[in-house]
Amino acid sequence: MTHEHEHEHEHDPRAIRTEALERLLVDQGLITSAAIDTIIERYETDVGPLNGARVVAKAWTDPEYRARLLADGTTAIAELGIGGPQGEKMVVVENTPAVHNVIVCTLCSCYPWPVLGLPPAWYKDPAYRSRVVREPRKVLSEFGLTLDDNTEVRVWDSSAEIRYLVLPERPASTTGADERTLAELVTRDAMIGVARIDA
Ligand code: FE
Repeated sequence: MTHEHEHEHEHDPRAIRTEALERLLVDQGLITSAAIDTIIERYETDVGPLNGARVVAKAWTDPEYRARLLADGTTAIAELGIGGPQGEKMVVVENTPAVHNVIVCTLCSCYPWPVLGLPPAWYKDPAYRSRVVREPRKVLSEFGLTLDDNTEVRVWDSSAEIRYLVLPERPASTTGADERTLAELVTRDAMIGVARIDA
């Protein structure tokens, strides 16, 4: 990953607010720091982008599932037993040679936790959040993704209500591969839309 920005969390008012809120909740006896750590760890390690990879691999191998997924992301994802906070309303957008989708939260850092886990630091960076809307091709090229001039770029702004998942293009070289093998190829960045899957 070559896309790095400088982070100054000590000056980030949201980071300070978050820390102050956690301290308040702990001080009031409403929650323990351990409980907060457990939640964060669960989304960092247990959930991770593996759930999203399962969804993508199934969509690649099962055309009927793919159709259901694009029609109603939330329900189709729930078919695999995946769902929960920060994923109550999921919309899945499909990459094709003609259309490339990329997700962002311009306001803060809304992200589909149940399928992708916690967002990477760059997703929360003000530079990514503003620039990917203004100059998506340039931002994507900084991630190492160069799009054909004829490919339309669609940027989806996540919100508290709607979270997006990108269904990446299946590499042509994977013809005949089974679902489990395919799932191992699917990366978090491809499901955000800042990378494609090479195999
Ligand atoms: Fe947000």
